[in-house]
Amino acid sequence: MKEFEQTFDILHNPSQEELVKAASVACGVPVSRVRQCVVVRRSLDARSRPVYRYRLRAFLEGDEPPREYVFDYKDVHDSPEVIVVGGGPAGTFASLKLLEKGLKPVILERGKDVHSRKVDISAIVREGVVNADSNYCFGEGGAGTFSDGKLYTRSSKRGDIQEVLRQLVAFGAQQTILTDAHPHIGSDVLPRVMESIRNCIVAHGGEYHFGSKVVDLTPPASKGGKWKVLCADGCCYSAANVILATGHSARDIYELFVSKGWALQAKGFALGVRVEHPQHLIDEIQYHKRWQPGYPHAEYALVEQVEGRGVFSFCMCPGGVLVPSTTESDAVVLNGMSPSTRSGKKANAGIVCSVEPQDVAGFEKYGPLALLEFQKSVENRMFANSGSFRAPAQRMTDFCRGKMSSSLPSCSYAPGVDSAALTGLLPDFVASRLRRVFPLFDRKMHGFYTQEALVLGVESRTSSPVRIPRDENTLCHIALEGLYPCGEGAGYAGGIVSSALDGIAVVNAICSRNLL
Ligand SMILES: Cc1cc2nc3c(=O)[nH]c(=O)nc-3n(C[C@H](O)[C@H](O)[C@H](O)COP(=O)(O)OP(=O)(O)OC[C@H]3O[C@@H](n4cnc5c(N)ncnc54)[C@H](O)[C@@H]3O)c2cc1C
Repeated sequence: MKEFEQTFDILHNPSQEELVKAASVACGVPVSRVRQCVVVRRSLDARSRPVYRYRLRAFLEGDEPPREYVFDYKDVHDSPEVIVVGGGPAGTFASLKLLEKGLKPVILERGKDVHSRKVDISAIVREGVVNADSNYCFGEGGAGTFSDGKLYTRSSKRGDIQEVLRQLVAFGAQQTILTDAHPHIGSDVLPRVMESIRNCIVAHGGEYHFGSKVVDLTPPASKGGKWKVLCADGCCYSAANVILATGHSARDIYELFVSKGWALQAKGFALGVRVEHPQHLIDEIQYHKRWQPGYPHAEYALVEQVEGRGVFSFCMCPGGVLVPSTTESDAVVLNGMSPSTRSGKKANAGIVCSVEPQDVAGFEKYGPLALLEFQKSVENRMFANSGSFRAPAQRMTDFCRGKMSSSLPSCSYAPGVDSAALTGLLPDFVASRLRRVFPLFDRKMHGFYTQEALVLGVESRTSSPVRIPRDENTLCHIALEGLYPCGEGAGYAGGIVSSALDGIAVVNAICSRNLL
């Protein structure tokens, strides 16, 4: 077996015959000796003439064939139950792993199935109403269902990323996610994938309970007993093991912990703005004016140290739209999503600055919820600017110069935007760094700092501002046997793939303890 690199024109999709020929040249053997040549990774290189750089793996006669991923989901109709609270990536991949282990997942999800969820999401714009249990963050598939579906993660130490990607492909995602350096699925494909996963889980005997918002958790009365999990509709479920994968927006779960005196910790997160540029401008910059139809739309990732603090781009969505991702009716929270083609006319990204416990003077009285209350206060201020989900916005150049914008460029954010002085709405330490960072970014991406770009408030749900502490070996809560905080809401993951990996890790940890 040998790995080698080969470039191909960006518009050319090489056939297996071409790959085998390339392998025969790279390995110095006749074509007849190459059994197979597989793409390990494909990355775009637009520094000069745009090409795809392929990392290829050649299997010659006598080599072991590539590893096959087989997912052996067992029939679990009569198996021991594990309660999974939350049907986001962490809860979903935990549930698939439970099926593999022969255990029955009972998924309690406060939101609705993906189809009903679409109706509630469109009501945010159409009627100006947020359903507190069914929105961009809550419902089947969790926060990532209506997103760009970026699957890029640096968290390779958390587990086997291919295990997640291959299951996503098996349930309907594009094959290219297995090899692309920056894979993404798209908001049009993700809901179908989540629905196929649910159908599989149910067919194997797992249970899905939508509209099941967990409002109370009661530990077992004695060692080896069962947790009682109470839902808002009065239904009560019990199991020895509960995976708590409720995401970073389930503020009521953190409040439940505080009310019970259970351990929680404040955790740093990041907060800032969304910026939106015309996509053609980003394409021009990144492709050095060589972009042409058929080329993928350009992305960017930027980071700078400003006043001793990292300021960085987050969740960049090429060809995407800005969405109202609040879970409360008195908050403005922005995020982005793109269809699989990323064919929209705008490019958006969060530009955020890290927030640490020492930054939130005045919020100490909230204890472990200090950063959460700080996050809430900024979101509420953005809402109060217009008393609606309309986002306060400013041209990037005006924002940096401290000047109100007399007009605003067109914007993809459906609820609408109002010209506002964002500096007064953002915390000072964030605003001052953001005002300095855009001209600095322009040195790396010439043309980024432009009056055609819009800066909007606020990007605040980047990761959890709270951690639910767990034992690093058992992954169980440090003081509550049988309760497994999991995924982004527990503070142990950020993003779709790392949350999915955490779900898998938690099930592996439960099974390795032989407590079932
Ligand atoms: C618009 C948007 C775009 C995004 N784009 C990307 C992207 O492109 N790539 C990426 O990697 N990440 C993206 N993210 C972030 C990503 O979605 C999250 O990191 C990921 O979904 C976290 O997974 P999770 O399972 O830990 O939590 P979540 O996905 O938040 O899932 C938690 C689930 O628990 C449910 N729940 C909450 N409370 C309760 C309760 N009391 N009872 C029962 N159920 C409950 C919720 O309804 C939800 O379904 C995006 C997020 C948003 C909002």
